[in-house]
Amino acid sequence: MLKCNIVKDLLPSYIDGLTSEESNQEISEHIENCTDCNDVYVKMKEPVSIDKPTEKNKIDFLKKVKRKSTRRITIIIGAIILLFIVYIVMAFVEFPVDSGGITIQSSLNNESLGGGALPDGALGWWRVEYTLGSNMVLGFRDGGYEIKTDGNGNVTSNTEIIVPRQTLPLLINPGENRNSIEMAIYEDVEYIIILRFSDQDIVVKPDNLLE
Ligand SMILES: [Zn+2]
Repeated sequence: MLKCNIVKDLLPSYIDGLTSEESNQEISEHIENCTDCNDVYVKMKEPVSIDKPTEKNKIDFLKKVKRKSTRRITIIIGAIILLFIVYIVMAFVEFPVDSGGITIQSSLNNESLGGGALPDGALGWWRVEYTLGSNMVLGFRDGGYEIKTDGNGNVTSNTEIIVPRQTLPLLINPGENRNSIEMAIYEDVEYIIILRFSDQDIVVKPDNLLE
């Protein structure tokens, strides 16, 4: 029977398979009968644990993957929100309209129009419609109103300045790509609508319609 100290000294070589056939038999017999040496043998035979992917490492890896996909989703949602905000802002930003992008129609009606019954003494309703060719929404800003009178306080001239503007259509409320102005006209008063475009002013008068 081998001594414990000798067995313990030989164990590393025994595990690595470097000991002789004869020693192997002696050592294995000893290990089977000596709990002390067997304990040392079992401990020595255990593989080094740091090389093994532990449960904790696996969880850390999953956490990392999860964190990565969460970040990606956050970026995508952020981009969508940003685009939406840009669109909303753009939908409220007004751009000047070029005179080439618009169609103007002027008409006279001596019956009641959308504005209601014809006022006393009026010759008719004069209506100017402007339609935008692009898919944008047409609007206008009030560019000013000018009423001229004679010495007796009678109105001689009535001028309205309109500044056409366009915006992106709002998806929730697309609105109409059309605008119009309507006024009751009287004899001896000159009616003028000035459409102030980015490139030029267009003056619209009802004179030819009255003839
Ligand atoms: Zn022993």
